[in-house]
Amino acid sequence: MADQASTAVGPYGIAPYKMKRGEEYMSERQLEHFASILNAWKKQLMQEVDKTVGHMKDDAAIFPDPLDRAVQEEEFSYELRTRDRERKLIHKIETALGSIESKEYGYCEECGAEIGIKRLEARPTANQCIDCKTFDEIREKQTTG
Ligand SMILES: [Zn+2]
Repeated sequence: MADQASTAVGPYGIAPYKMKRGEEYMSERQLEHFASILNAWKKQLMQEVDKTVGHMKDDAAIFPDPLDRAVQEEEFSYELRTRDRERKLIHKIETALGSIESKEYGYCEECGAEIGIKRLEARPTANQCIDCKTFDEIREKQTTG
């Protein structure tokens, strides 16, 4: 915790964006910044996926004991779920990268409002502003519960 303030590097090894005075929202520089975050994150995830696959290959079919096998199968299904989540996340990242290319990045899909640098810094794949996101979550809760 102590050195959190002194390290100016974000979770993807990229320092948070510093807005210049009078800089426009989603300027070329900002788009580049978020593109590098997304690319770094994607790379990280791809390495994770590779690790999972490698790990599963290494472990496959060495347990003759049915109990061990059950545990192993549980681990496998956990890893498969993790991998599935990673794949979905990679897909989201790719979608975000696509919207950077088409310069639609940073604006809410629902209402077109600016999502905001801070929110994007925390959630680079965000495609909704906080208001729409919150509204969606409330609606989801109402329909499922
Ligand atoms: Zn919105």
